[in-house]
Amino acid sequence: MMTTDKVSIDTIIAMCKNRGFVFQGSEIYDGLANTWDYGPLGVELKNHIKQLWWREFVTTNDNSVGLDGGILMNRNVWVASGHVGGFADPLMDCKDCQTRTRADKLIESHDENINADGWTNQALEAYINQHHLVCPKCGKFNWTPIRQFNLMFETHRGVTQNNTDQIFLRPETAQSEFINFTNVQRSMRLKVPFGIGQIGKAFRNEITPGNFIFRTVEFEQMEHQLFCHADDAMAHYEKYKQKIWNFITNTLGIRAENLRFHDHEKLVFYAKAACDMEYHFPFGWGELNGTHHRGVHDLTNHQNLSKKSMEYLDPMTNQKFIPTVIESSQGLERLFLAILCDAYHTETLADGDTRVVLKLNPILAPYQICVLPLQKKGLTETATQLYRDLQQQFTVTYDDAGSIGKRYRRQDEIGTPLCVTVDYDTLNDQAVTIRNRDTMEQTRVKIADLPAKVIDIFTSYNKKKNIL
Ligand code: ATP
Repeated sequence: MMTTDKVSIDTIIAMCKNRGFVFQGSEIYDGLANTWDYGPLGVELKNHIKQLWWREFVTTNDNSVGLDGGILMNRNVWVASGHVGGFADPLMDCKDCQTRTRADKLIESHDENINADGWTNQALEAYINQHHLVCPKCGKFNWTPIRQFNLMFETHRGVTQNNTDQIFLRPETAQSEFINFTNVQRSMRLKVPFGIGQIGKAFRNEITPGNFIFRTVEFEQMEHQLFCHADDAMAHYEKYKQKIWNFITNTLGIRAENLRFHDHEKLVFYAKAACDMEYHFPFGWGELNGTHHRGVHDLTNHQNLSKKSMEYLDPMTNQKFIPTVIESSQGLERLFLAILCDAYHTETLADGDTRVVLKLNPILAPYQICVLPLQKKGLTETATQLYRDLQQQFTVTYDDAGSIGKRYRRQDEIGTPLCVTVDYDTLNDQAVTIRNRDTMEQTRVKIADLPAKVIDIFTSYNKKKNIL
């Protein structure tokens, strides 16, 4: 059997549309750039990722609690955070075809070892001129000067449009954790170090071509902020780098050879350390998540503007201090895309036939089991009963349309780990056939033993190096 895991982004986009993972946003009206809707299978996959992240970073993470902050916040939140003044992308227009391009991303796509985040306009322009980087759309070299463009979506509350009514859709979830720091600490009687996790929508007025769901204007972030003492912060930073690595590789099962860390050499003035984890997407290496040592910047700024104390009194030492923040920030959709790209395999079988198989970890698969009656006639009742029983413990789908071979292939393509086939022998021996997605092996199992057998297969999945 020959296997290839090389896949183009166009193949992933087509698979997502055809199989109900992701649809173009507002498609019947010719779409809206960089927006996407998640279909029936996409929403299941997203929910599974969120549940696993929540378990790893909140419920089983020592001293961590959750939060669900509002999307709309007082404008001062974004003044204190620096987003009103400085959350901008360096943009330039092609004077020939009017395409707008992000200067830092143009440089990074020219040389994937460069991270141009935080470069000055002067440095960006110098590099673009020196390397004669042309417009990706029309190939001409005729750029306007670089201008900073604020990424926040702005709206107005009430009927007038004066400055006091201006509000923003949040461009990141983190600020809720900062502004609720004392609320959470006091109500939960937490001792530093403790963490707050949140999953929620964020909005950025991105103009760069999106690479499918990699860069969108509306997305979900899964963020965790640890509040700790400055002396311990570097150790926590290293721990959280390792934690996100373990989550992505061990818990989710993304292959380590497609991942790397990229430590930031140039840091914003308040940060002590920052790194991105990158995934090797079909279009090149791209940021998957970030771990940041943010010092006392966020809480200090909110204290200064709100005039409310953000200090913590250590009951053991009697020392008062503003805690340092270690942040782990993960975009849900980028992880979703990495999971699909990593799982997508094309196999040429011994008989020359080919199949597409999504080798998803069973804990992520939209459906864990598909129940199939070999024929509708005489088997529907037994199969339906089995489907209902299995639904109590697993996510299950049912398929009785078409030949059994075609039905297996359909499930392979959407990553269903196990197919359970009900045949005429089932009516006598109370047993069914389990067909394994990865090995395609079939085994006969008594219905009474089925749940235990399924759990056994799933729990041994990671131990067997991601093969069912
Ligand atoms: P990039 O350099 O790719 O623009 P960033 O450094 O601005 O990303 P952060 O502000 O650190 O990203 O956001 C944390 C995480 O949120 C990112 O690692 C990514 O997973 C996700 N993210 C950020 N912007 C977007 C977007 N426009 N679309 C989808 N996910 C995003």
